[in-house]
Amino acid sequence: MPSDPPTTPELDAYRAGADRFIAELDEEYYLHFAGLKDRLDLEAIYERHADLTELERAQSLGAAVNGDRGTRELWHFACEGYMGKLTRSHAEKLAALEAELEVTVDGETIPFRMVRPTIANEPDRGRRQRLDGVLWEMTEEHLNPLYREALDVTRRAVPELGASTYRELYERFGFDLQGLAAQCRAFLDSTEELYERSMDRALREGLGFGLDEAERYDVQRMIRSPQWDVGFPGEKMVPALRATLSDLGIDLDSQENVHLDIDQRPQKTPRAFCAPIEVPDKVMLVIQPIGGADDWRAFFHEAGHTEHYANTSRDLRMEEKRLGDSAVTEGWAMLLQHWTDGTRPRG
Ligand SMILES: [Zn+2]
Repeated sequence: MPSDPPTTPELDAYRAGADRFIAELDEEYYLHFAGLKDRLDLEAIYERHADLTELERAQSLGAAVNGDRGTRELWHFACEGYMGKLTRSHAEKLAALEAELEVTVDGETIPFRMVRPTIANEPDRGRRQRLDGVLWEMTEEHLNPLYREALDVTRRAVPELGASTYRELYERFGFDLQGLAAQCRAFLDSTEELYERSMDRALREGLGFGLDEAERYDVQRMIRSPQWDVGFPGEKMVPALRATLSDLGIDLDSQENVHLDIDQRPQKTPRAFCAPIEVPDKVMLVIQPIGGADDWRAFFHEAGHTEHYANTSRDLRMEEKRLGDSAVTEGWAMLLQHWTDGTRPRG
């Protein structure tokens, strides 16, 4: 590797630069997906911070990795930034295709991104099957070649970053992949029977047939659970979150760093999301409440991310606030999400 490790001031400058880069990206995502800005304009942000994702930068940070977890996180960030830059045109083409493609089923034309929600909303099983078939044909024909190409580009970049395989690179980022695989196998083994029994019962209750017969498109329909809509009204979502947090001693309305965006806007995405623009000082929780169990789950999930970032200590280093193992923030998100399907013991 040709690079010298960075000095301490250089590391601090890298941290500060990465902090602004991520803040600007999060703000841009927020503005676009909240319906406040038409174009998602990432190019200018990437250009402004191009030095963060240069190969030499990643290599130099790699040379600095010692026992310090923070430095390793900075190296990880630089490597992913470099690989992301190499495949950005693929990602842009994929996004454009997904937005443009349309499928025709039973004489009806449906935008590609609406096919999955349409399957979930479709009570007729035959039509679900036809929608699913077309979805995967289009994916194989138009999207998968680009995914494969991006994967090849990424694989070719791995040796430049100092590892012989993608897996070895991620193990050096600190992921115990073998250990994780063993945990996953043990979890699957111990829950296999429970899963089969529960899925079979849920499918029979919701759709009238069991697991043996069910296909992928049936599971999407089952998860949609229209029979529960009445219990998950759109107008109760925000009050339910406010009341639930209040029971835990969190007063949502007095959290000055949490910005709840519930306004209706035509271009706003219907899906809830969280944008931690400044951690912990400016965290956006965005929702256009529609209702239904799945919408509640997504909203509480994003509220979990919001409370995690809003309660993160200001004194931590950038990599501790913004980077690191996403299991931490996903853990909080899942905790709040699962409140929506918990049953209350009756006494
Ligand atoms: Zn999440």
